[in-house]
Amino acid sequence: MSTNLLVPDAQTILKLQAILPETVVLAAFDIVDRGNVIKYTTSWGHTHYEVLGSLAAYPVFIDLQAGTATTMYCSCPAFTYAVLTSGTHLMCKHILATRIAKQLQLYVQRGVEEDFLTNNIVQHYTNH
Ligand SMILES: [Zn+2]
Repeated sequence: MSTNLLVPDAQTILKLQAILPETVVLAAFDIVDRGNVIKYTTSWGHTHYEVLGSLAAYPVFIDLQAGTATTMYCSCPAFTYAVLTSGTHLMCKHILATRIAKQLQLYVQRGVEEDFLTNNIVQHYTNH
């Protein structure tokens, strides 16, 4: 039996580095490694992801409906500036971490009650 330690192979890292800065790639693997990607699942089967950053927890949305401006969204400042505004990055480290965690099933699972999720979202969007 192998352990669940995250050891990305060199090819994966090279591929990611071709489209993203090395710092973003390494930071994303670090986030996954620390178990900082949380997958919330509600009682009715809805899921959403949250990434614990050093300063805040960021709700991260991947696989959004086609037809929206972007299929991914993160609430961190880097996403707003580097992805949405300047377009220099394809995604931020939180989104990359979430995608890696989802792929490798290395997220932490938590269930949420409807009230908690609603409050969380309302709080998030009223903080701006
Ligand atoms: Zn982010």
